[in-house]
Amino acid sequence: MRYVEEGGVRLSAIGLGTWQFGSTEWGYGPTYANQIAGLIVRRALDLGINLIDTAEVYGIGRSERIVGEAIRGRRDDVFLASKLFPVGLPFMTEARALGSARRLGVERIDLYQQHWESPMFPARATMPRLKHLVEQGTIGHVGVSNHSLEAWKRCEDVLGGPVLSNQVSFSLLQRGPERELLPWAQLNGRLIIAYSPLGQGILSGRYEDSPPRNFRRWSGNFRAGAKARRRPLISALRTIADAHEATMSQVALAWLIRKPNVVVIPGASRLEQLEENAAAAEIELGDGEVEQLDSLSA
Ligand code: NAP
Repeated sequence: MRYVEEGGVRLSAIGLGTWQFGSTEWGYGPTYANQIAGLIVRRALDLGINLIDTAEVYGIGRSERIVGEAIRGRRDDVFLASKLFPVGLPFMTEARALGSARRLGVERIDLYQQHWESPMFPARATMPRLKHLVEQGTIGHVGVSNHSLEAWKRCEDVLGGPVLSNQVSFSLLQRGPERELLPWAQLNGRLIIAYSPLGQGILSGRYEDSPPRNFRRWSGNFRAGAKARRRPLISALRTIADAHEATMSQVALAWLIRKPNVVVIPGASRLEQLEENAAAAEIELGDGEVEQLDSLSA
């Protein structure tokens, strides 16, 4: 495994996303929630993955419970990230963080992220409460998610210190973060946590003929136009993957973690996917391959 050291933390370049755990949207069923998800977490730790990302809203607390159960006895192997959903009133922040910690079975959440900017309350309503949680040791670091650069900086101003990371959609299908967020993170010692790094499975190449059966099928990504536009990218991914005796998913992850200050948190529906994703940390893409992927995904 490769690690990224920044802002006083050491994170595996490949992490694990757990929105899938116990969530009805993904629809992976009870055997997945009750057995496979826990196996995925423990195998991730065995493979050197330490970054596990969850949120209070995933499965309405169920994901946090599953993760908490799976990491029992292995607290020191994990860098736990969870998220505060922007509903409710700012004064509830502490109780909500404590609720997440309780479900996770830990005294301290290593990274507590504001999931989205609140449509109702400005940074000055929430950030001082998060600062207080850092001071009392309930959380290790403050992070944000789905924040513009302007909003990220505003949070830092109010917090009076670094907001360690911004978790955003970032992949060969979504390169927006390269414009402002990533250069700023690289210059200032912050982190970009890339979510949906596989484009929710599209970059594995397995959904070009028929879309997935769950909520993903309704995304614009499966319209004929979108599929036709990404055909050259999918084809290049396949060729590069073959050259490395790797899979397309692994190449898509390797393209992301080649960038300084970026870590990825792919979800997994099966144990084998987790293992495959972890092994992507060992793939070194050539400059020509990266240029090709860059030009086809721009
Ligand atoms: P993703 O990681 O791009 O896609 C995950 C899905 O891709 C899996 O459920 C699996 O689905 C498929 N997959 C994974 N590994 C694979 C492999 N090696 N080969 C083939 N298929 C593979 O998308 P995501 O789940 O949306 O994002 C990852 C994590 O980011 C989430 O779990 C969550 O923690 C976080 N997230 C955060 C936000 C936010 O607002 N902050 C939003 C979205 C996600 P199938 O096998 O069913 O195809």
